[in-house]
Amino acid sequence: MLEESRYYFSKAADTLELSDRIRQILLTPMRVVKVELVTEADDGSLLHHLGFRVQHNRARGPMKGGLRYHPTVDEDHAVALASLMTWKTAVVDIPYGGAKGGINCDPAQMSQSELDGVTRSFVGQIKDVIGPTVDIPAPDVNTNAEIMGWIMDEYSKYEGFSPAVVTGKPLHLFGSPGRAGATGRGVMVSLAETLKTLGRSFDGLTVAIQGFGNVGSHAALLIAERGAKIVAVADHLGGVANPAGLDVPALAAWATQHRTVKGFAGGDEFVNTDIIGWDCDVLIPAALEEAITEDNVDDVRASIIVEGANGPTTPVADEVLHKRGVTIVPDILANAGGVTVSYFEWVQNIQQFRWELERINSELDKIMCKAFAAVSATATQFNVDMRTAAFVLAIQRVGRAALARVHLRNKINLPPGFFTMTDPGAVSD
Ligand code: NAD
Repeated sequence: MLEESRYYFSKAADTLELSDRIRQILLTPMRVVKVELVTEADDGSLLHHLGFRVQHNRARGPMKGGLRYHPTVDEDHAVALASLMTWKTAVVDIPYGGAKGGINCDPAQMSQSELDGVTRSFVGQIKDVIGPTVDIPAPDVNTNAEIMGWIMDEYSKYEGFSPAVVTGKPLHLFGSPGRAGATGRGVMVSLAETLKTLGRSFDGLTVAIQGFGNVGSHAALLIAERGAKIVAVADHLGGVANPAGLDVPALAAWATQHRTVKGFAGGDEFVNTDIIGWDCDVLIPAALEEAITEDNVDDVRASIIVEGANGPTTPVADEVLHKRGVTIVPDILANAGGVTVSYFEWVQNIQQFRWELERINSELDKIMCKAFAAVSATATQFNVDMRTAAFVLAIQRVGRAALARVHLRNKINLPPGFFTMTDPGAVSD
């Protein structure tokens, strides 16, 4: 994952002709925190875990990014995902830097009280380096609104009432309307904008989705509402397909009850790995990293890929798809709806004022469309694909902010025109 995120960064850095020193500065995390967590299990024995928080860059504002609870969480993984958050928040132009972290635990093997204990121990260890104006965690894989509520509670014990220290909280505990569906909504808007550029519409469009969790299920519901057919969906246990289009609300109800799409009666079952090569117009990877690789890229039949997951396409696969003319909306643009509504939640917490869902959705749509247009304009300006363009745009925004904070402008070997390049999304005075 670290290698892949660096590869995409380097491709954009080459386009911008950045010096090695600037690359090194932009790639190195600002702070890496690793803590030991010793807590008590329900049976009185000791649990031992490691917690990580990587704060990548704060040039554009407080750092923002999720917390993942998974046995594979480690420093490299967190570094890669933290840097993606820096670029993602810059692409949608919200006033944040990037961070990521988590605990190397397996929540499936833990009770709620053990999870609560580990979470509170972690907050105690990192409380001095997070905060509403410093670093604001959020949910990621295997963490949820309930855990965010515990983080707010524990942090507030030390620092006083602080709802803005974390986002993705429960609605009844200073969470935001629209947060749960925000990433899926952003995926839908990204697809809508892509279709416009291709002169196509949702009508009759066939869509296959890998992953039917938060991102995949909301994207499926919203895309189906607009007239497309969700012809296949796969999760970690299996897949279900219907060439006439799945009944997505019924599938969502089934998946909520059974925690899988497997067994849903409204379609035929298939082996979940077949989803990547499904015969469809649009493929939405919305599960885990490295879903499309050199091993299965030749199977891909979709002409549009919208990356709901983080890092679903490896560089080799990306290159192959690009050569074949497949349109890819990259993760740091396509799945930025979640962090955008997290930003709205933080704003509401600071304002102590709640926005209506209509306002959230309309502001989200505006930000997603503006970011899509800025990335498209950058792609045209530099004659590069959408992924490289998204990184180019983000690197320029972060680099400019970082350099505008210090008096180094003439001492750094920046490519000519770095400060004069037009930012397609810039606000004019
Ligand atoms: P989730 O845990 O709610 O859902 C994950 C889904 O992926 C589940 O349906 C699971 O069964 C499925 N899955 C896991 N392994 C699979 C496999 N091998 N084959 C097929 N399906 C598999 O997670 P989520 O919040 O929906 O996140 C999904 C992805 O989107 C992750 O990469 C995450 O980092 C990214 N993302 C999430 C958000 C958000 O707001 N939730 C925001 C940005 C990016």
